[in-house]
Parts: sequence; C-alpha cells; structure tokens
Amino acid sequence: MRWWSSLFPNNPSCWFCDRSIKQFCFSSAWSKVCADCAACLSPICEPVCNVCFRPLDGDENLCVDCLLVKQEDRVPNVSAVSYTSKAKKVLARFKYSGDERYAKYIGAIMYESVEKHYHQVPFSLITSVPLHQNRIVERGFNQSQLLADYIGKYLGLPTQTILERLKPSPPQASLGRNARILSLRNSFGINQDGQQLDLTPHTILLVDDVYTTGTTIRECAKVLRQAGVQTIYAVTFAR
Ligand SMILES: [Zn+2]
Ligand SMILES: [Zn+2]
Repeated sequence: MRWWSSLFPNNPSCWFCDRSIKQFCFSSAWSKVCADCAACLSPICEPVCNVCFRPLDGDENLCVDCLLVKQEDRVPNVSAVSYTSKAKKVLARFKYSGDERYAKYIGAIMYESVEKHYHQVPFSLITSVPLHQNRIVERGFNQSQLLADYIGKYLGLPTQTILERLKPSPPQASLGRNARILSLRNSFGINQDGQQLDLTPHTILLVDDVYTTGTTIRECAKVLRQAGVQTIYAVTFAR
C-alpha cells in the first residue's frame, strides 16, 4: 500500500473538480484526478529540455533559452504540468484562498515527478523559493514552502526555509522577459536559520510553484552556491 492510500482514504472524487471518479487503485497521485482535469492540466511528457524541462519537438537536448545560460549557472528543473489555464486556476485556488488540501494534492503530484526524474539523486534537504515578508503578511503563507513541506514529508526528508527575499518584486506577470530578469537580480539571500547551518554537504531540492524564465530558480541557486552548496535541483508544479 502506497502512502496516498492512507492520506486520502475512501475519497472517490476528483481532487480538482469534485466529480466522482471510479478509481480504487492507488497506484499514482494522478489516479485521484479525473480524466478531464488531467487532460486540462496537461502533464508534461518527454522529450523535454535536459535542463529546464521545456517540451521540445526535435531531438536537441537543450532549448534555446538554456543554450544562452552559462553551464555553471544552469539548474536542472522538472515540472509536473504545463502552465495551462487549468493549472493557473488550481494554483489560484491554492494561493489566494489558502485551501491547504491543494498543497497536499499539488505536492503529491510534484513528489511523483521528483521520484520519476530524480530517483538517483541523494537529496538531503528540501527548501523553497521564499516570498518577501510583505507578501507573506498579505497572503498568510508561502505557497512554495507548503509544497516543499509536503514533498519533504512524502520523501521522508527534512524541509527547511533557508532563503529569504530581500526586496519585494513587482507582479512578474506584468513584466516582459528582460524586465523580469532584471527585477529578480540580487533579490535573495540566506536567512538566519540558513546561516546557522553548514550547507556545503547538502544536495538541495528547491521547490517553487511555477517556472517562468528560470531566473528565480537561478538567482536562488546563485545564493546557495555562494553559501557552499554544490548540488541543486529544482521542482516546480507548472511551466
Ligand atoms: Zn476533475
Ligand atoms: Zn531549457
């Protein structure tokens, strides 16, 4: 019996639309999502970019954006689903109404992506992309931290908040690509808890809800590398 059979007992309805599903096999988190919602969420299938997980048509290994990033700055990412309107709706329900069941569900789906694509990586610490304090006060929680908590629980690994956001960022959706990259530069630091730790031996899984240009992940990784971390991988729900 897998962990989700005890977490979600006798729940015959779809996680994302409450429609009842005839699903008694607990083989995957996706078995708790109805066929319509699964199709709208559009799980990402290979072939994908070896670094950022962008779906690719041809047989190249890297997408055009990753080719422009210096090799030492690249951070491998896996994403569970495409950033469709359904994924936006699911994330909005989680982020803005604080429905904690969604953290459990989205975390379960992300955990499956981690197990599938990073099964050989010896992670020792799970952490998340931080929100600025103003945003936490406004929202009441950091959605990525909640997802990291669930993924850590499912993996049986410790989760710790070790990064902090030094400056508030304007809503990223309103910015073009270059403005977004500039607005995120030097936005992150290691928080007090992180400064107490010797981060050098850790292999870190960095969790965020959405992957857009990859700048957020790379900026966080830059700070972690400056603190001595050698190996960083990212997981995001949607991209
Ligand atoms: Zn559904
Ligand atoms: Zn790429």
